[in-house]
Amino acid sequence: MKDFFRGVRRHIERLDVTHLREEYARLSDEAASLDALFATLAEGIMVLDRDGAILKANPAVSRLLGMDPEDAIDALAIPLGKASKREIGITYPDARTLEMQTVPIDDAKTLVHLRDVSAEKERTEEELRVGATRAVRDLAAGVAHEIGNPLNALSLNLQLLKRTAGDDESIDECLRQVERLEGILRGFLQALRPSKPNLAPGSVAEPVRNCLATMKAQLEQRHISVTLDLAGAIPPVAIDKDQMEQVFFNLVKNSLEAMRDGGEIDIDISSDDNDVVVRISDDGLGMGAEQVAHLFEPYRTSKEHGTGLGLMISQRIVRDHGGSIAVESNPGEGTSFTIRLPRLERRVRELK
Ligand code: ADP
Ligand code: MG
Repeated sequence: MKDFFRGVRRHIERLDVTHLREEYARLSDEAASLDALFATLAEGIMVLDRDGAILKANPAVSRLLGMDPEDAIDALAIPLGKASKREIGITYPDARTLEMQTVPIDDAKTLVHLRDVSAEKERTEEELRVGATRAVRDLAAGVAHEIGNPLNALSLNLQLLKRTAGDDESIDECLRQVERLEGILRGFLQALRPSKPNLAPGSVAEPVRNCLATMKAQLEQRHISVTLDLAGAIPPVAIDKDQMEQVFFNLVKNSLEAMRDGGEIDIDISSDDNDVVVRISDDGLGMGAEQVAHLFEPYRTSKEHGTGLGLMISQRIVRDHGGSIAVESNPGEGTSFTIRLPRLERRVRELK
């Protein structure tokens, strides 16, 4: 382009009118398409003269700045005739960060380039945050792991003591507390260092049944009846049975804890075209909207001895299975959790 103009300048006296007309038409077409491009760019472009007056600005400039560029020019303190790059914070109409670059075009003009970098910035901050969290997490997991050994020793010695001292209220209480600590630690470690599921084709009904068998005594003791409803043949899913049993255990235990003496838990297993669906409903005390909004967040518990980790771990396990977990609840009306796991055929189809 530059060379072309130089050539035309050099020969302009010798060009005939027809030639000039043709060149003029070509140039005005070119200028029109450049103008259109200038007007539609997402980036803001301005050209300033040596006094800082605006010679040209595209519509993106006022959109990015949130005001007429004439009104912003002083505040921007643009270094004229210099190459520069900096970030500027904009608060109106919403908070965002712009990157401003200046490029001197010739002695007289400065090109200003504006770009919204809010999203990029957020991303890097998020990456930093995740990195820092990981370091703290590794440290916490290390400490938790170290606590496990002395706890183990305590529990062993307490059991020995119990054998020699016979039945003793305080030894029993110590054992119970140590067991509780071990439980908290186990949950904590599981939350910090989740292990990837070992997926194999299988039925979701099996871990549900195993979970109910494990909890049988607890459920009976509190006069809670459980009905298990299987709608026809349940298609197989890719499942880590141990991990899913843990999920069902966490959910049934929460239901049990949400009920006073007596009550009913319904477990319903069905399937649709895509998923196998397990719905666990209770008629316990339910939850308000505020509580539901923060569900699955770690350390949120309404219980004196709760850890607030059960649901978070459950959600993570279900997600690692490619599934989802949803909740519905109302205060006084009970709660139901719905777990969806993708049907095996669907997973296979997706992999193809
Ligand atoms: P924890 O049971 O240790 O408190 P969870 O992550 O398992 O931790 O549950 C978090 C909170 O969610 C519980 O403290 C309780 O307030 C609420 N919640 C969970 N399941 C139910 C349920 N079935 N009915 C009522 N509230 C529930
Ligand atoms: Mg729980």
